[in-house]
Amino acid sequence: MSKTIQAVKGMNDILPASVTRKDKLPSSELWSWFETTLRKVLGRYGYQYMLTPIVEPTALFVRGLGEVTDIVEKEMYSFTDSMNGDQLTLRPEATAGIVRAMVEHNALYNGPLRLWTMGPMFRHERPQKGRYRQFNQLDVEALGFAGPDVDAEIILMARRLWKELGLVEGEHVRLELNSLGQPNERAAHRAALIAHFEAHADKLDEDGKKRLHSNPLRILDSKNPAMQPVIEAAPKLMDFLGEETLAHFNAVRAILDAAGLQYRVNTRLVRGMDYYNLTVFEWVTDALGSQGTVCGGGRYDGLFEQLGGKPTPAVGFGLGIERLLLLIDALNLPVPSAAPDAYAILPDAAALPLAFPVLEALRAAGVAVQMNAGGGSFKSQFKKADASGARFALVFGGDELARGEVSVKPLREGGEQLSRPLADVAAWAADLLPA
Ligand code: ATP
Ligand code: MG
Repeated sequence: MSKTIQAVKGMNDILPASVTRKDKLPSSELWSWFETTLRKVLGRYGYQYMLTPIVEPTALFVRGLGEVTDIVEKEMYSFTDSMNGDQLTLRPEATAGIVRAMVEHNALYNGPLRLWTMGPMFRHERPQKGRYRQFNQLDVEALGFAGPDVDAEIILMARRLWKELGLVEGEHVRLELNSLGQPNERAAHRAALIAHFEAHADKLDEDGKKRLHSNPLRILDSKNPAMQPVIEAAPKLMDFLGEETLAHFNAVRAILDAAGLQYRVNTRLVRGMDYYNLTVFEWVTDALGSQGTVCGGGRYDGLFEQLGGKPTPAVGFGLGIERLLLLIDALNLPVPSAAPDAYAILPDAAALPLAFPVLEALRAAGVAVQMNAGGGSFKSQFKKADASGARFALVFGGDELARGEVSVKPLREGGEQLSRPLADVAAWAADLLPA
């Protein structure tokens, strides 16, 4: 036998729950249910679906995310296209690609857009639970709106999604909120930060020293316990925010307060990309260890210009799908069954030509019917019908067929076995649908 080939490290298969696997990843049933739910929720808020390529020019992310961000410095899958020498990157996040597309198509010419997309992102990180090299995001963007109304809208939309998924806000997930101010306010704060960290340079670690002049804000994000006192004592951006910025922040807060949403203002929240300004937020959980952020986002009013477009206010978030589904798994939340309505038992191969049109008619009527493929004894087919989770078994037995009928046997709720005419499926199909 030849040697088997394994998936690339940190890149996962998502499989049905019936497949026993060694690693812990969400099932494809859970994944589908999440997709159905998010489509429903996003539709209710008037967000439109769009897609961008998975590969983009490397320059897009270098310019969009910032040269001294973790992602650009060490996490990007970048390569040279050997056919033509182009510098390309597997997208590490969705926002830069969406903004590129908006500018390229002049897509906001007719007014603002509310958009969402979903798909794989790629980051060369150390793989562990909740952190992968290929992972999936739901990404939501409101483009051309200055806020603060849409800032609050996308936060409350995420909250609506939690509700639909059975997550309890405040218990399973909670909101952290901050304002990063405007570029001039950040510049004043940055100068004060550099002065502060310069005065305490002996207390900075290697990474901190490196960041001191390139990106001092990221020092605040350090998890190094030894640096916490000097970080704690650093000047706070909040104290550099002007009247307009505070008014924007307070307007977002007023909407969230009125909506009864509990949140924590976390003045240390900075986020990993350079493009953010004003409102930033994260939805976090304590149930996933150190990979606790399931959804993060904020306003990025400068990104369009940075990528060559007209100045355009924008706000959005990225939600880590694997992390969110791991959370739902860890909490053992009830998930609707993906079982078929009915399972067709076909003990006699000679019955197949008669049975198929009946199965097709049932599906045309909206009934989910799983057919027993490959034959097998009556008993073994019944076992499979039971294991499928279907509510009914349809028995296409020799005696029934001779009478022009099929037997419908309830498998879950009890009740009588009924005979139904093969010729008039429409008359009884609805009885198999969930109430
Ligand atoms: P973290 O602090 O955990 O590294 P991040 O700030 O890099 O997260 P974002 O770039 O804001 O994350 O991405 C949005 C969401 O995507 C995160 O909140 C998280 O749920 C998810 N995510 C980010 N990186 C990964 C990864 N390597 N594997 C799985 N999910 C991820
Ligand atoms: Mg990260």
